[in-house]
Amino acid sequence: MSKRIQSIRGMHDVLPPESTLLRAIENSLQGILRQYGYHEIRIPLLEQTELFKRSLGEVTDIVEKEMYTFDDRNGDSLTLRPEGTASCVRAGIQHGFLYSQPQRLWYCGPFFRHERPQKGRYRQFHQLGVETFGYVGPDIDAELIILTAHMWKKIKLPMQPKLQINTLGSSQARQSYREKLIHYLQQYKDKLDKEAQHRLQTNPMRILDSKNPDMQEIIQNAPSLLEHLDAESAEHFIQLQKILDETEIEYQINPRLVRGLDYYSKTVFEWIADGLGAQATICAGGRYDGLVEQLGGKSCPAAGFAMGLERLASLLEGTATQAQLVDPTIDVYMVLMGEDAEMAGLKLAEHLRTQVPTSSVVTNCGGGSIKSQMKRADKSQARLAFILGEDELENNLITVKYLREKRDQDSIARTEAVSFLENFLNK
Ligand code: ATP
Ligand code: MG
Repeated sequence: MSKRIQSIRGMHDVLPPESTLLRAIENSLQGILRQYGYHEIRIPLLEQTELFKRSLGEVTDIVEKEMYTFDDRNGDSLTLRPEGTASCVRAGIQHGFLYSQPQRLWYCGPFFRHERPQKGRYRQFHQLGVETFGYVGPDIDAELIILTAHMWKKIKLPMQPKLQINTLGSSQARQSYREKLIHYLQQYKDKLDKEAQHRLQTNPMRILDSKNPDMQEIIQNAPSLLEHLDAESAEHFIQLQKILDETEIEYQINPRLVRGLDYYSKTVFEWIADGLGAQATICAGGRYDGLVEQLGGKSCPAAGFAMGLERLASLLEGTATQAQLVDPTIDVYMVLMGEDAEMAGLKLAEHLRTQVPTSSVVTNCGGGSIKSQMKRADKSQARLAFILGEDELENNLITVKYLREKRDQDSIARTEAVSFLENFLNK
């Protein structure tokens, strides 16, 4: 026997019922996005490597060690998208849609990062992301947060995730803070771990994000960015908090929330859920007012977020929402005895699906005795079996069997099938 080929580590087939749950979550969240006036953008899975290097920053986890990068047949360096923001900005500049009017966009699909696979962390995973362009004030930051809070309610997360917010200030303010931070951290250089020592010169703010317990004291006592803010960013942050207070969204200010990517400025936020272990962040985002210019466009304010769908799905595992979303029930299984019945059944099923659009109707395929077809009907989780045999055909009747309740079978006229099914579903 030849060797079996397996899927790549960290890249999973999603089978039912997990696929059903993911699809239901996506549909539900996309419905909310429509309510808020957001439009879908579809971006390619592959981009030039340069795009991510220039937008995310050379010394970020993603660019340093997580990208799937390869040369294609022309020798061009391409990368499987590790995130969506860079592509949205690239598309905005390329098609010029950033400047005509403000934009509210969303995308959803697979992303790729070469990380160590574990629960909640995969090499191919799914994100739903939102990007807005042309809105400069804190009102849009608040809208993004209100929108996500609405999503948690809609999919009935068993526990309300916690919101953390912070502001990174303007890039000028950050620059002068950066120098102070380097100066402070340098005093403890010997106590910093290897990664932090490396980051000290390249990306010192990321050190604040470190989970290393030996460095926590140093981090706790580091100068706080909140005390080095420019006036405009400070005011923006206060306004954001005002709106959140007014709309009764609970939050915690975390001055050490810095996010992993270079492009953020002013507001950043994360939603953190209990019960996911180390992979607790289900949604993260913020403003990136400088990115459009950095990628060669005209300056344009921007803000967005992305959420991990696998992490959301795992929060719903074992809950009533999951049971409801992946309910495998179908309404009718058509048991068809003989060639004529098969033909008539096919047409009747099509008629029912058209006339009763909420219904699900499965026809028996592959023939079989009445006994084996009834077995399949039962296994299919159908609520009703519609049986068509020679007798039924001759008399234009359908025999109806109730598969999930103790009740005698019925015989109905074929012309009544639609109203019968409507009544049954509306009961
Ligand atoms: P983390 O700190 O968990 O590595 P991140 O800061 O790298 O997250 P973002 O780039 O902000 O994550 O992505 C947004 C969301 O996408 C995350 O909050 C998470 O829910 C999800 N996500 C990110 N990386 C992965 C992954 N490898 N597998 C599954 N979900 C992921
Ligand atoms: Mg990461």
